[in-house]
Amino acid sequence: MHFFLDVILPIPLARKFTYKISPGEAEIIVQGMRVAVPFGKSKIYTAIAYETHHRPPVAYEAKEIHEILDEFPVVQKIQLKHWEWIANYYMCTLGEVVRAALPSVLLLESETKIVPVNLDQVEQDRLTDDEFLVVEALHHQSALRVQDVMDIIGRKRVLPLMNGLVQKGVIRLKEEIREKYTPKLIRYLRLNPVYEPETALESLLDSLQRAPKQHQAVLYYFSQLGQHRKPIKVSEFEKQSGTSKSVLKALVNKGVFEAYQLQADRVQFAPGQKEAKDIQLNELQSKALQDIRECFLRDQVCLLHGVTSSGKTELYIKLIQTALQKGQQVLYLVPEIALTAQLISRLKTYFGNMVAVYHSRYTGNERIEVWKNVGCQSEKAQVVIGARSAVFLPFSNLGLVIVDEEHEQSYKQFDPAPRYHARDAAIVLSNFHKAHCLLGSATPSIESFKNAKTGKYGKAEIPRRFGEVLMPEINLVDLKTAHRKKQMQGHFSQQLLTAVNETLSEKEQIILFQNRRGFAPIVECNSCGHVPQCPNCDVSLTYHQHKQQLRCHYCGYHMAMPTTCQACGSSKLDTKGFGTEQIQLELEALLPDAKVARMDLDTTRGKYAYDKLINAFEAREIDILVGTQMVTKGLDFRNVGLVGIMNADALLNFPDYRSHERSFQMMVQVAGRAGRTKKRGRVLIQTYNPYHTILQQVSTYDYPAFFKAEIYEREQFHYPPHLKIIKVTLKDRDFNKLNEASDWFAMSIRNVLQARVLGPEYPVVSRIRNQYLKHILIKLEGVAGVSSAKKSIKRVQQSFDAISKFRSVTVIYNVDHI
Ligand code: ADP
Ligand code: ZN
Ligand code: ZN
Repeated sequence: MHFFLDVILPIPLARKFTYKISPGEAEIIVQGMRVAVPFGKSKIYTAIAYETHHRPPVAYEAKEIHEILDEFPVVQKIQLKHWEWIANYYMCTLGEVVRAALPSVLLLESETKIVPVNLDQVEQDRLTDDEFLVVEALHHQSALRVQDVMDIIGRKRVLPLMNGLVQKGVIRLKEEIREKYTPKLIRYLRLNPVYEPETALESLLDSLQRAPKQHQAVLYYFSQLGQHRKPIKVSEFEKQSGTSKSVLKALVNKGVFEAYQLQADRVQFAPGQKEAKDIQLNELQSKALQDIRECFLRDQVCLLHGVTSSGKTELYIKLIQTALQKGQQVLYLVPEIALTAQLISRLKTYFGNMVAVYHSRYTGNERIEVWKNVGCQSEKAQVVIGARSAVFLPFSNLGLVIVDEEHEQSYKQFDPAPRYHARDAAIVLSNFHKAHCLLGSATPSIESFKNAKTGKYGKAEIPRRFGEVLMPEINLVDLKTAHRKKQMQGHFSQQLLTAVNETLSEKEQIILFQNRRGFAPIVECNSCGHVPQCPNCDVSLTYHQHKQQLRCHYCGYHMAMPTTCQACGSSKLDTKGFGTEQIQLELEALLPDAKVARMDLDTTRGKYAYDKLINAFEAREIDILVGTQMVTKGLDFRNVGLVGIMNADALLNFPDYRSHERSFQMMVQVAGRAGRTKKRGRVLIQTYNPYHTILQQVSTYDYPAFFKAEIYEREQFHYPPHLKIIKVTLKDRDFNKLNEASDWFAMSIRNVLQARVLGPEYPVVSRIRNQYLKHILIKLEGVAGVSSAKKSIKRVQQSFDAISKFRSVTVIYNVDHI
């Protein structure tokens, strides 16, 4: 009898592929193990074993697998079930989910390039013969492919070897972003151990009789540190003992002292310095905690609606403690891991090394470590803090999922597939595990609030801030009036400037929010009206003054800022609109003594760039922080007296059905950064439209009014949560072909679906990276029909794919697009 194995390949093809295996292999292989398989002409992929059976494939001759890569499954049953749900619900392939889910180190393939990390520091005796050959080759070639490695060692089974080298830190995969941050190294000093016996020390001191300064230094070392043998920082030693650098150097050269470097851990923790049970909740928090616990007796999901700085995190800590006592794993999702340094250190003070962080900016090794620790239920990853991809980790005993700031749109993956919403995927995951799920927010999403209202979720509330601090006072500044009365200085109204000055003189800090980076979104010629455009995309270029560049925020294209108009040659180029960079420059001119910093995509690219800014702000090295929406997210600063929103209108006028929801959330969140400790904070919102309903609702923190109006609008205009939206995007380089293809697609969907189908239409930006885009919006009413509708759409795509002239057209589904 023949044995076959179905595998999932990490590629966007919908079916599973069948390979031949030997009876012996069939005995070993279980679902979730990785196998290396040949695919296509010469490719090798890492695939996930799905099922063994005896049915040969009909359409093709099954090839043999290359090798089995694991002794134990790296993917658990429940995990696969969850991934299948994601693939189905978000209309992508299981292979695409696998590719997003597994750390790339676990998915080596023939195209993967490896590069050396630090060849000089390789300890050669730790290498096997084959590894040695590969390292040798890397001395001569900057990168190797899997095929090269095969050639070098003369056999096909090479993936485990490469894995081993990655794990030994000798090589890394090329696609990984290089770490920009160089860890802070601190030099330490210790006595050479040969001088530890007392007799040895005596003869050492004797031998130094003629070098009194050196003698003195050794004596000092011993009198102060002799008993403890603790390493001491070189700088500290020099200072305390009065030893000069040259004397120390002589001692190190003689081998009396050894100097060595240690990476300074930014935060060091003993396991759990504080106990969660020591947190004293106030009355409102206790009530909310009790409500959550009661709600978990009935419901799987609970929404915690707690105003900013109400102390939601303390409740999370209590709930985590309960889960840990039961030996369960906890997943703590955050929208943006880079912004959570504060949270991580808060959690570590309670749970110490049980807290692991899962982070897409981390290198392969760090990610693998968390993956493995979660997989074997190690104590080291009992609590995982992570951004959206953490929902893919191999949990087996998940007891609690917390989705912090559940309203955040960054939970939705935009590109590439799977275009999943991590909050929703987390709810489904917790369901599979029979775990509890807590959604937390000061400004819940319309969906979640509706679910809580209709009883689908449980609900708990903290209506006031911790410590009875009042919510910041929000005032609106009418820019129209300010302009008319000539009270503007740059983009600052008189009111805002005065408030800034007052806050500075009270030695408090300021956050200014402007939801655009760069200097100015548009450069325009005053003579002919020409606006420089990106050659690859249908957008105007953004001016970045610091670099004197025009940049495209869609494709990264950039050019030097022209001095004359490219259309008419006039030198009267003007900028319109403004971004964070311009605000920073204006401030520096208006307030030369204030220390101003900027937090946006441009200033936070390195791994620790955020942390550095946040630490500097916390340490009050910065007076005014200017930033994009990054400054709205969950930061807990002690000393912010004023928050300014430079221009609310840009937010409100965004052409999208969610723009009101998003504006409300962003403004209330950024306002929430002010006055978190004792004194009441202040917020000023500049706008041309102070009577806008949303602004009125923001300034009175009236979430119920906002919800009521918004849910009514959504119903009137047929938008979620009353129905589901699937956005289909078609892309092609050929404008005419795209039009024809999208007409065909929309028409076919109209034929098979009883649904509102809008489009095809051009999006606001209708060409990106030289691809033209068209959207079709499908609105599906009634939950029951949604999954059959998705099947119908997929069938339409099958017919579409069969039309040869449309072959180049890409079709993208975005389910629950936001
Ligand atoms: P939220 O997450 O709701 O915005 P936080 O959990 O960050 O609020 O709490 C705001 C501040 O109040 C934090 O600095 C926190 O340490 C403090 N705080 C909240 N609850 C307590 C408590 N029970 N005991 C002591 N401090 C608390
Ligand atoms: Zn011109
Ligand atoms: Zn572009």
